[in-house]
Amino acid sequence: MDNVFDSALDSLKKAGKIGKIDLKVMELLSRPKRIIDFTIPLKMDDGSFKLFEAYRVHYNDALGPTRDGTRFVPNLHVDEVKALALFMTIKHAVSGVPAGGGKGGIKVDPSKLSDWELERLTRGFIRNLKPKGPKIDIPGADIGTDYRTQSWMLDEFEQITGEHNPPAINDKPNIMGGTVGSAEATGLGIFYVTQKACNDNNIDLEGEKVVVQGFGQVGATIARYLYDLGAKIISVSDISGGFYDEDGLDIIEMQSYAEKNHGLEGYSKAKGISNNELLTLNCSLLIPAAVQNVINGKNAADIKSKMIIEAANGPITPEGEEILKAKGIKVIPDVVANAGGAIVCHYERIQGITDDYWDIDKVEKRLEKQILTAYVNARNTAEEFDTTTRIGAWIVALRKVSKAVKMRGWV
Ligand code: NAD
Repeated sequence: MDNVFDSALDSLKKAGKIGKIDLKVMELLSRPKRIIDFTIPLKMDDGSFKLFEAYRVHYNDALGPTRDGTRFVPNLHVDEVKALALFMTIKHAVSGVPAGGGKGGIKVDPSKLSDWELERLTRGFIRNLKPKGPKIDIPGADIGTDYRTQSWMLDEFEQITGEHNPPAINDKPNIMGGTVGSAEATGLGIFYVTQKACNDNNIDLEGEKVVVQGFGQVGATIARYLYDLGAKIISVSDISGGFYDEDGLDIIEMQSYAEKNHGLEGYSKAKGISNNELLTLNCSLLIPAAVQNVINGKNAADIKSKMIIEAANGPITPEGEEILKAKGIKVIPDVVANAGGAIVCHYERIQGITDDYWDIDKVEKRLEKQILTAYVNARNTAEEFDTTTRIGAWIVALRKVSKAVKMRGWV
């Protein structure tokens, strides 16, 4: 199953069946509430003109306004955006965030644009999308977007509406009304969940071998937390390829190399390894933190890790998951493991609305409590239904969404 939306629907259907969710609610959730499909015209620096495809999907808003990421990638497909918006619906529900699921994006390779072009395109996204503010839909960041794009988005929104409204856009810097701790939130959340899941499965992280695919905001952050704890990170990679050292890589050095060189390409202090080989290394923990569908029917049988923590969204296909299950490899699913960013975006919204900004201690303490509650609820529900933690997490979420949908009288 290469289509990530089909994979998301597979989890939805399995969880609905096992958790005995009302069939009318299941039918409602089998498609998004709204897909906004639009085109952004952009004047390039050389005077030429290009058109860019863009989307925003509002999957379900029974639990609150639709929220979250905006992906700028060259191969964006609307099905990817639909899948991510469904994941956000589930992620918010399972982690107790009063929000629905939204996702958007532009089909573009941002590295091929100048800074001016990227700014004009990002502002064009907001002008053409016309988001309606923090009570309706809040675009955040994702792959290819960052503090800069989110600052431009907020400024464009405020220029259009004529009022300051920081909670209208998520993942912005502090000076624009963002929150402290947002850059590390997803990685830190994964760290809290990893520690708890390892504890539950008798894995002592100190000295254990860990492999991380993807060395961006999430991958590098979780690699660093685990490295500081004493785990042996034997392999990491980015889109240019992977690096391997059986005795453990120097993650601090690799982080500063990646910052200086905008990636790991050219790093010379470890052996090279392909992104596919890296996935099949002998290790205790495998953390896919790059893109979807990397563990699938073709390579799952070769995975040797004791446990997989899904830092990326949708890194395992349903076929891959069946094989892993048969091999007894435990998977901690994306909708719980990487919910830290979504949870801290919720704190960002609270702070923006109240104009009362928190310190890092408050952000981290609340995040730890909230994400571990989500993990424990998913784990306990999985035990109750004798199923995987993924299906357990989806059942927790579907029960909440179902209740809200029914209370609203939608089915
Ligand atoms: P990022 O753009 O900062 O980093 C992505 C990393 O993956 C880069 O190192 C890139 O080179 C690498 N990569 C890209 N394609 C690859 C490929 N085909 N093979 C191997 N490596 C590849 O993105 P990020 O914010 O770190 O997000 C990573 C994943 O985590 C995505 O799936 C994203 O949806 C998910 N996620 C991110 C957040 C967040 O807060 N940033 C929250 C939840 C989930």
